[in-house]
Amino acid sequence: MRALIVEKAEDGSTSASVQEIGEERLPEGDVTVAVEYSTLNYKDGLCVGPGGGLVKTYPHVPGIDFAGTVEASDDPRYSPGDQVVLTGWHVGERHWGGYAEKARVKADWLVPLPDGITTRQAMAVGTAGFTAMLAVMALEDHGLAPGNGEVLVTGAAGGVGSVATAILGHLGYTVAAVTGRPEQEGYLKGLGAARIVPRDELSEPVKRPLETETWAGCVDAVGGTMLARVLGQMKYRASVAAVGLAGGAQLNATVIPFLLRGVNLLGIDSVLRPYEDRVRAWGRIATDLPMDKLEAMIEPAGLADLPGLGAAILNGQVRGRVVVDVTA
Ligand code: NDP
Repeated sequence: MRALIVEKAEDGSTSASVQEIGEERLPEGDVTVAVEYSTLNYKDGLCVGPGGGLVKTYPHVPGIDFAGTVEASDDPRYSPGDQVVLTGWHVGERHWGGYAEKARVKADWLVPLPDGITTRQAMAVGTAGFTAMLAVMALEDHGLAPGNGEVLVTGAAGGVGSVATAILGHLGYTVAAVTGRPEQEGYLKGLGAARIVPRDELSEPVKRPLETETWAGCVDAVGGTMLARVLGQMKYRASVAAVGLAGGAQLNATVIPFLLRGVNLLGIDSVLRPYEDRVRAWGRIATDLPMDKLEAMIEPAGLADLPGLGAAILNGQVRGRVVVDVTA
């Protein structure tokens, strides 16, 4: 089978190349999957390159998610021919990932592909889109409804942001999309954004802990200074779903928005999500993410493109969702 293998040299540098390898190198697991598609997430950018501390052993096959067809199973829940999707569980980091024609994993990590979604569409969604759905669900669980006002999406032209924009737009929310790439205005409005907020407007550090109450909700893929600013602009009792750190992990904020406006900061983890939440989120993706909008986000790629694309996503240069045909 073909696989993208990352190797580490004695000087600590890493290199990634497409290699033909034997199936005996597959790790232990209950289910062997013929992988059809994988994708590129921010974490994949790290794991295709020097690893960011996520990869523990080399040689390594990255790819934090995949979709494909079960080839063999020792678990009664899955049979050959079943279509499955996997995100999280540190696959592609600590474990063999999706950048290969086959993967072997624990049955507990898989989710049956819902009706109406192909393996290609599942990877157009991927971890980024799945997490965007979890973020929207968390905001709804905390009272967000379409009549509440504008919902902010940060890092909007990225993977999480693109899917969040499309889902929220489809559900009838008024989406304000933050981007540092003004040339993506047409793309973002096509996905469902009502207006664009230039990144610069939210890039200055917090000066006043409370600003004008503006946002009824926020899906935040950026973190750092931007998240700190956004907290002070949330409406009374509104919630921010903190998904990512594309702009930084430090949060230099005050607690005043929590105390005086009852603002909620909701942490969103996709990696160790219980199975029931995963099934619910994939079910919602099938109904609430318009597939024509998803199609507009897709950038097709093959295994050999991944080293270059990995560097590009770390530089914030990838738009929407890269879909990797592992057989190409
Ligand atoms: P992308 O690179 O596709 O998107 C990130 C976007 O953030 C960019 O496209 C850019 O959007 C914006 N951005 C990048 N750098 C900066 C910066 N310095 N300041 C402000 N904005 C910036 O990544 P993903 O969408 O795949 O992931 C987004 C984040 O979410 C990552 O940090 C990732 O690790 C995290 N994540 C977390 C998950 C979880 O389980 N919690 C799961 C999946 C992802 P634009 O050009 O529009 O400004």
